[in-house]
Amino acid sequence: MITPDQRVPWYYQGLCFQCQGCGACCRGPGGYVWISPDEITEIAGALGMSDEEFGYKYLRRTPTGLALVDSRSGDCPFLNGAGRCAIYHARPVQCRTWPWWRENLTSPEAWESAARRCPGMGRHERHSLFIIETEAAKDF
Ligand code: SF4
Ligand code: SF4
Repeated sequence: MITPDQRVPWYYQGLCFQCQGCGACCRGPGGYVWISPDEITEIAGALGMSDEEFGYKYLRRTPTGLALVDSRSGDCPFLNGAGRCAIYHARPVQCRTWPWWRENLTSPEAWESAARRCPGMGRHERHSLFIIETEAAKDF
């Protein structure tokens, strides 16, 4: 008997995604960018700040963990004036693994729903099942 864990996922042929650089996923209001202690140290280092300085300026405590503060507009504080990530090479895992989040992969409908907010989903480059599963496993 095949258990639910052994079923081939609906996206077994891979999925297309190529970021269009629109910055929509970094804009608010609402939403959280979760951040781990290791990521705090990495980003603070990239910015030439101590962990404490970084925490004071950029972090908020929530009931479920630490997250980046929102800027006044509700956008991520690292979204720059050109609509790009100012800490791209040190960005959190949550940002690196989009759109391969489990919540987007639960069904074709969930994928389509997320794609309405992200013009890169369904576009151009096809990513294999192996790549998708590897990225989705980087829980944040
Ligand atoms: S919304 Fe999608 S296409 Fe736009 S920047 Fe984010 S990942 Fe890229
Ligand atoms: S850290 Fe960078 S990629 Fe992540 S939400 Fe902020 S601006 Fe976007």
